[in-house]
Amino acid sequence: MKVLVPVKRVLDYNIKARPKADGSGVELSGLKMSMNPFDEIAMEAAIRLKEAGQVSEIIAISCGTQACQETLRTALALGADRAVLVETDEALQPLAVAKLLKVLVLREQPRLVICGKQAIDDDANQTGQMLAALLGWAQATFASRIELGTDHASVTREIDGGLETLSITLPAVITTDLRLNEPRYATLPNIMKAKKKPLETLTPADLGVDVTSRLTLLKVAEPPARQGGIKVNDVAELLDKLKNEAKVI
Ligand code: AMP
Repeated sequence: MKVLVPVKRVLDYNIKARPKADGSGVELSGLKMSMNPFDEIAMEAAIRLKEAGQVSEIIAISCGTQACQETLRTALALGADRAVLVETDEALQPLAVAKLLKVLVLREQPRLVICGKQAIDDDANQTGQMLAALLGWAQATFASRIELGTDHASVTREIDGGLETLSITLPAVITTDLRLNEPRYATLPNIMKAKKKPLETLTPADLGVDVTSRLTLLKVAEPPARQGGIKVNDVAELLDKLKNEAKVI
């Protein structure tokens, strides 16, 4: 069974995101970029299924600028067999990515796509769901356990206040939650080997997909700075302030 794993290049999770001085976006220049953490978990899930003999090939896909090659090389070092970069300088929104992935799914014919549940830059949490809808495939989001059969997968999902286990028919899209696994690190020999693994570069035009933005980013701003707190002398003063200043009681 082939598995496709989309991996997004995002600002490293250790770096605090700051708006650009003109508010036109998030400052990325000179900052460390990494694979989206949920996509590392998706890669790990695919690798474990391959190690268990249930998956024959893992294809990593990234859509974005040429720099995404680095993210794909990481995916190859972790255990992907080959990679595809859909290269564009356009800012891609989830629907555009889902359309690109759909064409690649039709070309590659995987039985499973494992995505992250969300990219930590835009927090959209949309791409996997949109891809499943465009393909007419089953979907199981926020997976914390995956058991793969031949025609079905059993997926345990984290929901408010508990766990839900679904049986979905294959082919399907699964999106990963934090507790699915702990991703491995790429070893130095595997980083070296990854340089020789195949990485194909395509453009959205090659795939016949229009990735023009459907929304315009108006402004990115810091949240307002928190006001300092004050000390009250007694409960009466607290109640007075809650009633007459904060007006919350
Ligand atoms: P989002 O819907 O943007 O929160 O992203 C959810 C998941 O879709 C990510 O964790 C990735 O697996 C995949 N994804 C989103 N954008 C891209 C991209 N530009 N390239 C590859 N995969 C992506």
